[in-house]
Amino acid sequence: MHYCKCALYLSSAVTLLDSKAQQTELEWISSPPSGWEEISGLDENYTPIRTYQVCQVMEPNQNNWLRTNWIEKGDAQRIFVELKFTLRDCNSLPGVVGSCKETFNLYYQEADVEVGRNIRESQYVKIDTIAADESFTQGDLGERKMKLNTEVRIIGPLSRRGFYLAFQDVGACIALVSVKVYYKKCWSIIENLATFPDTVTGSEFSSLVEVEGTCVSDAEEEADNSPKMHCSAEGEWLVPIGKCICKAGFHQKGDACEPCGRGFYKSSSQDLQCSRCPAHSYNDREGSWRCDCEDGYYRALSDPPSVACTRPPSAPQNLLYNINHTTVSLEWTPPADTGGRNDVTYRIICRRCTWEPEECFPCGSNVGYAPQQSGLTDTYVIITDLLAHANYTFEVEAVNGVSDLSRTQRLFAAISIATSQAAPSQVSEVIKERVQQHSVQLSWQEPEQPNGVITEYEIKYYEKDQKDRIYSTVKSKSTSATVNNLKPSTAYIFQIRAFTAAGYGTFGPRVEVTTKEESTGSVISSEQNPVIIIAVVAVAGTIILVFMVFGFIIGRRHCGYSKADQEGDEELYFQCTKTYIDPETYEDPNRAVHQFAKELDASCIKIERVIGAGEFGEVCSGRLKLPGKRDVSVAIKTLKVGYTEKQRRDFLCEASIMGQFDHPNVVHLEGVVTRGKPVMIVIEYMENGSLDAFLRVRINHPRQSERVSVKHDGQFTVIQLVGMLRGIAAGMRYLSDMGYVHRDLAARNILVNSNLVCKVSDFGLSRVIDDDPEAVYTTTGGKIPVRWTAMEAIQYRKFTSASDVWSYGIVMWEVMSYGERPYWDMSNQDVIKAIEEGYRLPAPMDCPPGLHQLMLDCWQKDRADRPKFDQIVGILDKMIRNPNTLKTPMGTCTRPISPLLDQNTPDFTSFRLVSEWLEAIKMERYIDNFTAAGYSSLESVARMTIEDVMSLGISLVGHQKKIMSSIQTMRAQMLRLHGTGVQV
Ligand code: AMP
Repeated sequence: MHYCKCALYLSSAVTLLDSKAQQTELEWISSPPSGWEEISGLDENYTPIRTYQVCQVMEPNQNNWLRTNWIEKGDAQRIFVELKFTLRDCNSLPGVVGSCKETFNLYYQEADVEVGRNIRESQYVKIDTIAADESFTQGDLGERKMKLNTEVRIIGPLSRRGFYLAFQDVGACIALVSVKVYYKKCWSIIENLATFPDTVTGSEFSSLVEVEGTCVSDAEEEADNSPKMHCSAEGEWLVPIGKCICKAGFHQKGDACEPCGRGFYKSSSQDLQCSRCPAHSYNDREGSWRCDCEDGYYRALSDPPSVACTRPPSAPQNLLYNINHTTVSLEWTPPADTGGRNDVTYRIICRRCTWEPEECFPCGSNVGYAPQQSGLTDTYVIITDLLAHANYTFEVEAVNGVSDLSRTQRLFAAISIATSQAAPSQVSEVIKERVQQHSVQLSWQEPEQPNGVITEYEIKYYEKDQKDRIYSTVKSKSTSATVNNLKPSTAYIFQIRAFTAAGYGTFGPRVEVTTKEESTGSVISSEQNPVIIIAVVAVAGTIILVFMVFGFIIGRRHCGYSKADQEGDEELYFQCTKTYIDPETYEDPNRAVHQFAKELDASCIKIERVIGAGEFGEVCSGRLKLPGKRDVSVAIKTLKVGYTEKQRRDFLCEASIMGQFDHPNVVHLEGVVTRGKPVMIVIEYMENGSLDAFLRVRINHPRQSERVSVKHDGQFTVIQLVGMLRGIAAGMRYLSDMGYVHRDLAARNILVNSNLVCKVSDFGLSRVIDDDPEAVYTTTGGKIPVRWTAMEAIQYRKFTSASDVWSYGIVMWEVMSYGERPYWDMSNQDVIKAIEEGYRLPAPMDCPPGLHQLMLDCWQKDRADRPKFDQIVGILDKMIRNPNTLKTPMGTCTRPISPLLDQNTPDFTSFRLVSEWLEAIKMERYIDNFTAAGYSSLESVARMTIEDVMSLGISLVGHQKKIMSSIQTMRAQMLRLHGTGVQV
């Protein structure tokens, strides 16, 4: 082993015996006394020394012993014996033969105590025979130039308290100049701030003694690294391991730890140096691990001693508010002084105050705060669910990590606000009236604070196991409702909320109802008893009939059964009308979006391909897989990157509107993704895209449209076209019942699915219509799609459901002409002029006259004369039920040569007498002719032919034509009024 390289300290020997050091006689035992002789001399430095000499070379068989005194060994285990001697060369001695020796023997004997003066040779252990490296010849002694030999021998391990050394001379001439006995020791040292004590070396030459160090004062052991060193056999410290470090408040100076001075601190033993106290802190004693904060300054529990002391922030600034019914939004700017911290947040203290005397009380837990009441990091908050017509005080306090430690006065910004109209309070008392296998009937009390007239209740329900991930809603105008189509033996949760002009209230508590078990065995199956089937069908039929009749009697359907609109897939669904809420009335557009649209997890959406371009970004198709539901095809509208806040708002506005609708002929919103990027609106997928393009493809490229299976070689049947129109009208009826005015109804804004079901879409900017390429600026300001828009809307922006009816007439014309552009290539100016002069679009080719008449009705100048969507649906339903009315009379509906029809004709169906009619067309001079020929009713007039007119004696060709043209108009008007009632 080579420890030498890492030996740190040279050993120091501990002397047990040094003959040179003794000035007096050594008085060792010499046996026989004539042998070894103690002689005083001088060493090489002329220092007086005690030596032993023997020189009995002339006589044979010498055996002279010299024994030291008893040497106490102390801790030593290995003893070093160093001998210095001179030895005379036998050859240099004249006359000595054979008996002269040049060596002597060294012995030792262990003994716990002194053993007397007798030398018993047998008790001695031989250490070695010592020979001289250098002997000397005669004369040398005289010149005192002795050749001094030095020999060292090691003895051990020794086990007794002490020992004797003995020198045996067998006939040599020796002078024992010095005898030194010592052992080796590693002396106490301080290494790495640890003290290692004096350590005697081990007994074996190769052994290392492991020694644990002790930390000097104000130092501590480094974690898991206690100090150790090793004492080698040579008395050297080797292999230091681990260390001590100065405690907090102390730093190292040399081999000691000294306290940090005043104004300094050291927070941890790990730190090397003391540091100056951080800002706003001090200390006036030595050896500190931290500094104290100045008055008014604090350190938060989580603040390390190294950071400056800080103080609470000043009050927020520029507090502003906005109030919307019972929702208040507050905004402010950060405090001028953050107190030196960057963890400033805000908390809101809300108090409701009485008017007189003014007393304020905490608002309590019914008030909602968004994002939250305290810990606000942004400088705004929305406070909801306040009471209507109440006085509130709001304090906005800026707080930081030391606010709660400070006892100084709170600093806040405050504002007093009075609320206006509120949403209704919760519906809390719900009674389970009737629980069946598939239905549950509930009733409830009006909320305690309706805060207005409750127009509707919404019942939200879901299977308990599903939580409210998937839920359904049912609407009711009264304080009771029956929820149908439930699963038997299933626990459902119901919650109800009320709706007033101020919006929805919050949902009431959850009410759990478990539907009844499916009955088995005891019930006779319908297969076994046909009478039961008939009875059940009859009862169900009666219920539906009663429902529909009732719906009809109360005038406008609010709740009732409707049917989805396509041939072959009639389906009854429960429908209730509710009122549309303009999302722009919401202060916070995000709130509107989340009120009406479900937030989807982006991971549920898989984008597959781009299918179009919207105003805000690409429109893609893809799949939506909601937990627990089958995946469905969806269209995904994305908001392009780099959008402005306004663009985001406008983009999501479409979802806020669409999310309020639930009708088979209105495109359905699946949900939105607002919390990720890109922002997305997810809509049901409409395989055939927009209606105008779809119709045009069929005409121009019949083969491309084979994705839709139709019977008539690339053309739709009239029934199919009317079916599509009926669907659009039903969607528009629903929207107008909800109070929603579309403003941009056109075939391009109708989407078609794979079953040819048409759905109204494009609610995005129906108020502004910026994105419609057809929209142009008008003199009244704002953009308008002129060809589709009613006159009053163009002239003075009067948009109503009646103006939507006008647009619907244009959509009818687009459909019946397979996507032809309304008014062909006429300029917008010419279109406006022609419409004002009373001209209207003629019937498209092969268009049944009844349909064209319906279009003309939609284009009545006076909007009160236009049919309502409800009536339009009724007329179309009648036509579908009586396909004969849709037959095109030969030659009556071909593409016109003169494009527009003159509509300046009175409504003849409003006249009762033939004379009134003749006066209206300024032909009163022929009243008698008609009376004489027996034409007493307008019905009989409407059946007249040109021959009949001529037979009355009306000879002027111009008059004949005028009367005949008027009769034709009258006939069309009657047809519209009575369906097939008038036969020509
Ligand atoms: P929009 O931004 O609504 O005008 O949409 C742009 C285009 O994307 C439309 O003209 C359609 O071709 C297509 N598109 C929009 N929504 C859907 C949908 N739900 N299903 C299929 N295609 C759609």
